[in-house]
Amino acid sequence: MDPVTERAPKVVKSDQEWREQLSPAEYQVLRQAGTERPFTGEYTDTKTAGVYECRACGAELFRSETKFESHCGWPSFFTPLAGDAVIERADNSLGMRRVEVLCASCHSHLGHVFEGEGYGTPTDLRYCINSVSLTLVPETE
Ligand SMILES: [Zn+2]
Repeated sequence: MDPVTERAPKVVKSDQEWREQLSPAEYQVLRQAGTERPFTGEYTDTKTAGVYECRACGAELFRSETKFESHCGWPSFFTPLAGDAVIERADNSLGMRRVEVLCASCHSHLGHVFEGEGYGTPTDLRYCINSVSLTLVPETE
């Protein structure tokens, strides 16, 4: 995405406030762009119907209907809930050209998005998101 059009976060907290609100594992991923180890996250294989919210600010980010089995070790979605729910930003760290996915509301790190992997999803995109960045709110009947 063009960095000029990137919106400022609606939820702004100091580093100290984030540290107090989040667990060390959450802080490391959400605020320091860490990555949880594959196949360890609580939502990797979850099929429960509901909405996945940002664990830092509660913004609605993904729906369970767009989650698919990628076998990559992290929860994978083929599209965010709304186009403006997330921000996509070029990430050339670790010697790789990747696209980072951030929460549009608080700019916390969620994961990365990959395209053209041939998963056969409607978008050919894989939003590879850390479980620790999300909170699943199950649908109520
Ligand atoms: Zn957020």
